[in-house]
Amino acid sequence: MSAEQQQDLFGLFTPEPGVHKAPPSAPHASVAPIATPRASATIDGGEIVFERSDRARQYRLTLRRDGTAVATIPLRGSEREALRFVEQHRDWLERARARQALRPRAAEVWTVGTHVLWRGEMTEIRIATAGEKPQVCLAADVFRVPQLEGDLRPTLEAHFLRKAKIELPARTWELASVTGVPVTEVSVRNQRSRWGSCTSAGVISLNWRLVQTPDSVRDYIIYHELMHLREMNHSARFWARVEEVCPGWRDAELWLKRNGSLVGL
Ligand SMILES: [Zn+2]
Repeated sequence: MSAEQQQDLFGLFTPEPGVHKAPPSAPHASVAPIATPRASATIDGGEIVFERSDRARQYRLTLRRDGTAVATIPLRGSEREALRFVEQHRDWLERARARQALRPRAAEVWTVGTHVLWRGEMTEIRIATAGEKPQVCLAADVFRVPQLEGDLRPTLEAHFLRKAKIELPARTWELASVTGVPVTEVSVRNQRSRWGSCTSAGVISLNWRLVQTPDSVRDYIIYHELMHLREMNHSARFWARVEEVCPGWRDAELWLKRNGSLVGL
């Protein structure tokens, strides 16, 4: 078994603020945990997915970024209780859905003319060269594409990943040296739910989408992980260390909160 500690950060799928919780009802002798992974119900025209969790202590209602409302059922809870819990909190769900609708969204399909988040700015995809070897550009960066028509997103995201694998480790080694934190390995990954993570063995993993965010946000995430190698928690001591090396961390957090949905997940 690995002794490494995993430290997570900023779920891209973090629940909306104000997740509601309630204690489970008293255990009932005849109610055994059911193995069905997913059941669902409909409230106000929206689907609620039920998920059982052995670790949950309370009923929970969350609205995921993909718009799915999830009711978590604790160990000895029931779907009926969960449904009642959801009904008690339908106003909250409605507000959460309204907030979500106002959030900026990334385009699903990228074509010439689409604005995508690139190095912190919404940047238009423009034609650099047409003809046999077509290329598009995003501000100063030029990318080869198989053709100018159709969805350019898979090709461009593959380019982003390649750039990230060069740029993010380089920047991490640089900041590790500046802060004197010993790092053993830097990996760039396609993390679906976090910006970065690290292990107590000194391995830092970064989300390739950080090449799309402003440099100050990318640096903040790197500093955040570096400081976790000193403090493997989110204690006041940890944040004091972050503050010391990255005084602009609050702005970076705010940016992530407001624009995280633009990275196109
Ligand atoms: Zn953290």
